[in-house]
Amino acid sequence: MNIASWLEQSARSYPALSAAATGTRVVATYGQLAERAARLAGALREQFGLKPGERVAIVAKNSHHYVELLYGIWHAGLAAVPANAKLHGAELGYILDHSGARVCFVSPGIDSVIAPHAPHSLERLIAIGGAEYQALFTADAIAVVPRAADDLAWLFYTSGTTGRPKGAMLTHRVLAAASQAYAMEVDSVSPGDAILHAAPMSHGSGLYIMAHVARLGVQVVPESGGFEPEEVFALIDAWPRASMFAAPTMIKRLVSCPAECDLANIRTLIWGGAPMYLEDALAALDRFGPRLAQIYGQGESPMTITTLSKEDIADRGHPRWRERLGSAGKPYASVEVVVADSADRPLAAGETGEILCHGEVVMPGYWCNEEASRTALRGGWLHTGDVGVFDQEGYLHLKDRSKDLIISGGSNIYPREVEEVLLSHAQVREVSVIGRPDREWGEAVVAYVVGEAKAAELDALCLARIARFKRPKDYVFVDSLPKNNYGKILKTELRAMDARKTGTP
Ligand code: AMP
Repeated sequence: MNIASWLEQSARSYPALSAAATGTRVVATYGQLAERAARLAGALREQFGLKPGERVAIVAKNSHHYVELLYGIWHAGLAAVPANAKLHGAELGYILDHSGARVCFVSPGIDSVIAPHAPHSLERLIAIGGAEYQALFTADAIAVVPRAADDLAWLFYTSGTTGRPKGAMLTHRVLAAASQAYAMEVDSVSPGDAILHAAPMSHGSGLYIMAHVARLGVQVVPESGGFEPEEVFALIDAWPRASMFAAPTMIKRLVSCPAECDLANIRTLIWGGAPMYLEDALAALDRFGPRLAQIYGQGESPMTITTLSKEDIADRGHPRWRERLGSAGKPYASVEVVVADSADRPLAAGETGEILCHGEVVMPGYWCNEEASRTALRGGWLHTGDVGVFDQEGYLHLKDRSKDLIISGGSNIYPREVEEVLLSHAQVREVSVIGRPDREWGEAVVAYVVGEAKAAELDALCLARIARFKRPKDYVFVDSLPKNNYGKILKTELRAMDARKTGTP
């Protein structure tokens, strides 16, 4: 099976339906999109001589072209390597070299970022939308190149909060399984429904393209090519039945944006990719009503490990509604998820350990990295590196990445628990809790805070809500926290900053 066939099928049955839009302007029908993909595939095969299985990179900001590029690449039997356009040239050079891509499509302007770092294997750097790009669509269309379900479709480079990024191999089977899981458990899609791509299409948002192609939805890319809260509200007004994937920080910005929209137009706002603190989830629910869903996943099991449904989030009458809201939901029907001890033995509900998962949606391994693949997939289970605990009703509560766990005086302290408490102070905007090496305690709890709250107030809040040993020993007030391009707080960087500040090794 080639996932490109979903577009062919949609175009054959409803060629005149809208397939892609920039802002409020429809730029392609299904018939036009399928034809462009088939012609691009022809150019990639015939003009560039690329053979099935070869990789083609996309280093682009969000634009409607993303959709035709992905489908053109798959139609030709090739694998796409979407990379974050905000990465440094050297990081992009590494991904291009490691993936062995001979062709790379780039947003205008990014070519000059890549050029000094381009590996020898890269033959062509093509500016999206330029004359060379447009000429590709005059090539003769070809038929979809057959692929096996286990052939590579998307090489997903992890966001690399530490070390070199690794390329999670997402096959046609993985993409199909993730899309089906989405349509079955997160958000039903009907013809004409919109998906707003305000989050990076190289990452989470892009993984929702396929379900919407199969179900004849419209891919709507903001004019700005990114996330501007006012524009998102305007697009929701323009597109009845719109859904959007957003990182928690984006949801937070939407909540605090004074602009309004017709909330009835929102199908689902899906958050995930990083922790959403309870206070923020409550505020989002107050603002948007029963239209929020949560997903927990990672590049290695794309967007699909557990999900907290719209119904669970909105079920205020349930006796354990708040606890559920603070969880990451239940495993998708297609994924087996366990919490295991350090010897990979499954633990009972209530016991904390590493989250492992397995199923059709899990990658078969990392590209050209057997050692990392063996480690991540030992025993046939993906080791997520996330720590969590199932409650009695099967909801997974995420703690922290195992490397972020603080061990102080022999006790385990999960930073998130302390962060939740600190964030409940009205004058704390952002917070991140880390461990600082300490002679006496092994590690001492330190809170980095953005906001006007006083240390003494925060200390009192902790005393009232959590065990004494979990209280931060030091509060550091800063203007901002180090984040990666997806808005995730970089604890590794924060620990390094802290070490420089205190002179600890
Ligand atoms: P990435 O592979 O870059 O998408 O990062 C995946 C990681 O983000 C996961 O392993 C988790 O640590 C974190 N993450 C993803 N979804 C959630 C969520 N819903 N809540 C908390 N953390 C999440």
